[in-house]
Amino acid sequence: MHTTMSNNTITDHVSTVDGVEVHTDHWINGRWVASADRFEDRSPIDGSHLADVAAGGGSEVDAAVAAARAAFPAWAALGPAGRAPILRRFAELINEHVDDIATVESVDNGSLLTGLKHAVVPRAALNVSFFAEHALTLGETIESPQVSNRVRFDPSGVAALITPWNAPFMLTTWKVGPALAAGNTIVVKPPEWAPLTAALLAQLSAQAGLPDGVLNLVQGIGSAAGAALVAHEDVDRISFTGSTPTARSIGRAAAETLTPVSFELGGKSPFVVLADADLDAAAQTIVAQYMNAGQVCLSGTRIIVDASIADELLDKVRTHTAALIVGDPRQPATRIGPLIHPTHAARVDGFVERARAAGARVLWGGGRHDAGELYYQPTMFDHVAHDSELFRSEVFGPVLSWHTVADADEAIAVANDQDYGLAATLFGRDATRTTYVADRLVAGTVWVNCYYVRELAAPFGGSRNSGIGREGGTWSFDFFCDVKNVATRHDSLTTSPHAGN
Ligand code: NAD
Repeated sequence: MHTTMSNNTITDHVSTVDGVEVHTDHWINGRWVASADRFEDRSPIDGSHLADVAAGGGSEVDAAVAAARAAFPAWAALGPAGRAPILRRFAELINEHVDDIATVESVDNGSLLTGLKHAVVPRAALNVSFFAEHALTLGETIESPQVSNRVRFDPSGVAALITPWNAPFMLTTWKVGPALAAGNTIVVKPPEWAPLTAALLAQLSAQAGLPDGVLNLVQGIGSAAGAALVAHEDVDRISFTGSTPTARSIGRAAAETLTPVSFELGGKSPFVVLADADLDAAAQTIVAQYMNAGQVCLSGTRIIVDASIADELLDKVRTHTAALIVGDPRQPATRIGPLIHPTHAARVDGFVERARAAGARVLWGGGRHDAGELYYQPTMFDHVAHDSELFRSEVFGPVLSWHTVADADEAIAVANDQDYGLAATLFGRDATRTTYVADRLVAGTVWVNCYYVRELAAPFGGSRNSGIGREGGTWSFDFFCDVKNVATRHDSLTTSPHAGN
């Protein structure tokens, strides 16, 4: 097999994407493993054919889980201090390969190249190094009158890690970092619409000295490879980031094996602007909700504005939006790249057309952009009914809705009128009122006068249909570990010179 399209080439199970070689097979037990079945991966930038990627199923998942199980005892036995040097090296290697990873991810999923280079991929490296260090701090002793309670964070076994396409490399490391630091071995199932940078991660893990079988990768379609992985009886943890409907299906599979799940799901987050807000900062941050063509789970898509400042704010948002350049995400001036896939673009279009038909008014945008088939205009609706599809469903495209309210209490009511609860953004100056609103918003994260700031030590996750559990800092280890209490009666032990077994 040898195909050439634009500056991408495909030879046997290795693709060259904008000059970077990427393996397109599974990574199992420290080597590349092919499958007879393969699926096509195309770039959202121009539809060019990037790769024919191995499509795994039950047998590849069995092999990967078996490799992870075999590697588990030795990796667990290293302890946090033994694992840390390898994980630090892994993080360093990610940083050393930022350009390659960013190049491939931009072509594979359409994210802005500059953002990937300067923020997203460095952040991915930090995901690995942060959790390696954090693991060294875990454990405590709680004294009670009769006993000493020694709390241990023991590795749980084999973790299945499943990620979506909108920020695949970063989101994968957000799970890989703590799962490995906790002493688990892992099987990663990358997203089929952006599968390539996971292969770079696997390659770097081997260079870092991760023993064979500690990190495995099974490529494939969600309903085959993903479903086989979450149903596997020898998987001890499932950490999933993706859509709410898929989570329901994974939850049903996990119920059969009683495997603990961590779910980071979709959202329909509110963006509240109070009467005394800094309107310039609020306007710029509203426009940032179009980031990644709106394909961001945290995006504040329902803009809820105090009526007294609504006209002035809308003018500012309109002006900033008009300046956004839509186009090739590899060009430094571009602010909005393509949607991921023709199926997804049709879905976004469907939401917009149905909203229009239901009586919502397009303030700007409202259709495809002339940059190409998958490019969509940043769009704003008003007159959106609170029981409408657009108010209640996640579009996952550059589509926002504008709502005016009389006061802070009505803003809270409109914001919380939702089945989701992932994030909320709030702009306002008065500390008492802003705190009053922030404390009443139902969301895993509330940003006040800022957006998208994520501290790795802080909890992250969703309320309601936006997720189950929290990850970040110690919360990640609560999930990935078997937390154990060793309760020892005071003064019941002697110390021997032959410590250990
Ligand atoms: P998706 O649910 O379709 O797919 C996510 C992953 O699950 C993919 O790897 C897919 O192959 C796999 N999968 C699909 N069916 C499966 C099954 N039956 N069993 C096991 N795995 C299966 O989601 P998507 O379209 O890739 O991603 C977009 C969604 O992800 C949006 O809803 C977005 O809000 C959400 N998301 C959430 C967060 C967060 O942190 N909360 C972050 C990014 C994206």
